[in-house]
Amino acid sequence: MRIDLHTHSRASDGTDTPAALVRAAAGAGLDVVAITDHDTATGWAEAEEAAQEAGIELVRGMEVSTRHQGAGVHLLAYLPDPTHPGLEQALAKILAGRNSRVPAMLERLRTHGIAIEAQDVRRVSPGTAATGRPHVADALVELGVVSDRTEAFRQWLNPGRPAYVDRYAASLLDVMSVVAQAGGVTVIAHPWGRHGPDQPDEAEIAALSEAGLAGLEVDHQDHDAGDRDRLRAIARNLGLVVTGSSDYHGMGKRDHDLGVNTTAPEEYARLLDLAAGAAERSGRVTPPVLRP
Ligand code: AMP
Ligand code: FE
Ligand code: FE
Ligand code: ZN
Repeated sequence: MRIDLHTHSRASDGTDTPAALVRAAAGAGLDVVAITDHDTATGWAEAEEAAQEAGIELVRGMEVSTRHQGAGVHLLAYLPDPTHPGLEQALAKILAGRNSRVPAMLERLRTHGIAIEAQDVRRVSPGTAATGRPHVADALVELGVVSDRTEAFRQWLNPGRPAYVDRYAASLLDVMSVVAQAGGVTVIAHPWGRHGPDQPDEAEIAALSEAGLAGLEVDHQDHDAGDRDRLRAIARNLGLVVTGSSDYHGMGKRDHDLGVNTTAPEEYARLLDLAAGAAERSGRVTPPVLRP
């Protein structure tokens, strides 16, 4: 069984439509794929239909932009009821923060002599609910300012670069709680990918585990072999589920091919058990895993 629990479609900043993503996952020999767009469930419906046709098991989830102790944390939420009012409100607020920051980024680029308008960004991001730096990057590529997304981030969009603008992110603990209320389970995406090893450290991860965290995404391209060994040991100590995923973005991210990292079947089974418990406690109608 090959299981990939973290992928993006055009509903956020991937380059495949949700249907194309699911077909690509089946074509890559995966048995299970999770669609986890940033801060939105809008890709789910299209993915569901395609998964049935392609004969692949589909897990519906999302990757929520949160903040904890001053640092950004990406939180994967699996199988929550997307109509839960608290979850809907939390996502709406994050998406509003995303949208309001785009004009500010474009203004900064114009200050630096780049003629870029909102419509340039809209043109390269059909179908997205979560407009972000990747789309601004794509617009810069389209305009011939840079050669690819990576260069756009390096020159313009990374923190400390001229067009970087911060945005609202929800509190990690609040999102963990609202996902639980919506009957879902949470896994920290690439825990050491953004801020380096040991951030968060084992004590902090233990506190999150106490607060209901289900798992850690250990096998991710942002972690080297040493990070993975240590994160796996931490997850084991704390009884957290260990996941492995590609964080596929289509053409939008290099070295993140579907299935480049995978989740062990027994870890996936544990995650689904936890999700079943969360669903029951919540009293919500949660999206089941779709089996072909
Ligand atoms: P945002 O959420 O709008 O701040 O954008 C963050 C997203 O940009 C991440 O989820 C990544 O998918 C993407 N990203 C960050 N750095 C890079 C990079 N160097 N090259 C391509 N994509 C990137
Ligand atoms: Fe992304
Ligand atoms: Fe992420
Ligand atoms: Zn991701």
